[in-house]
Amino acid sequence: MKRASEGHVSIDNITKIYDPLGANVLAVDKCSFEINPGEFMAIVGPSGCGKTTFLNVLAGFESVTRGEICVDGECVAAPDKGLRPGPDRVVVFQMGALFPWKTVLENVCFGPVMQGTMGKKEAVGKGEELLRIAGLEGFENEYPMNISSGMQRRVEIVRALINEPKILLMDEPFRALDAMTKSVMHKYLLDLFDVIGKTILFITHDLDESIYLADRVLVMTTRPGTVKKWIDVDIPRPRDIGVKVSDRFLELRQEAIDAVHEEALKAFERGERELAR
Ligand code: ADP
Ligand code: MG
Repeated sequence: MKRASEGHVSIDNITKIYDPLGANVLAVDKCSFEINPGEFMAIVGPSGCGKTTFLNVLAGFESVTRGEICVDGECVAAPDKGLRPGPDRVVVFQMGALFPWKTVLENVCFGPVMQGTMGKKEAVGKGEELLRIAGLEGFENEYPMNISSGMQRRVEIVRALINEPKILLMDEPFRALDAMTKSVMHKYLLDLFDVIGKTILFITHDLDESIYLADRVLVMTTRPGTVKKWIDVDIPRPRDIGVKVSDRFLELRQEAIDAVHEEALKAFERGERELAR
């Protein structure tokens, strides 16, 4: 496995308030933590707790109200810095969009060739290699509409990875997939992670998924989102589906369920009180 020397993220006291002069929604409150180079970190938490907000701030799509985020020592988010999205932080969206008129391989190679970071030959070589690891060998010349949704999602991941980001940001990327397709996706993502050794930040509300994939799981509190609990996933890699029935997996899963449940109850009770007013 490739050991990452870059992709260190330091999050210092991040607070995000939407519409401070109007609705004043405190979405993320005083969040501080680090993500290590080459670490697979997952964030879980009840719906509306601020997961997507956090990812968007890190990606440079949303401004931050207070605090600072640095990647390898370079500030990428601070209140006075403006929005700074960059090729070092690539996002794989829940519903991606491949170019329907380009083949799988053309989709994958488009970015680096367009930006001039790679020659066509180099991009094709690298694209083919990543597609092979993602289980897409033989599908290079297919058009997106002729492959399954699970395959499309993998092409999107490969398309993000070919740009050699320092960090891969994923916001519930497999949410729309059925359970079987999802488990296939997990296998390929784990394989890719073992080979590329990139820092990954993976947001999900699926607790099984978070523990199966990640080195460390951050459980966020209900809104305003902040750190509730860390779960260290001390299950060795390479992992396969068999670990899901191991005692350790079930223990960690229970820990995550208890923590998220506690927060979900708080959110629910708050909602009930607001409705009763
Ligand atoms: P999650 O991804 O955990 O479900 P989000 O980060 O999407 O949560 O949202 C966190 C909170 O911020 C929610 O209460 C949501 O309604 C609110 N929110 C999200 N985007 C905006 C926005 N553009 N303006 C105002 N409030 C927002
Ligand atoms: Mg979200």
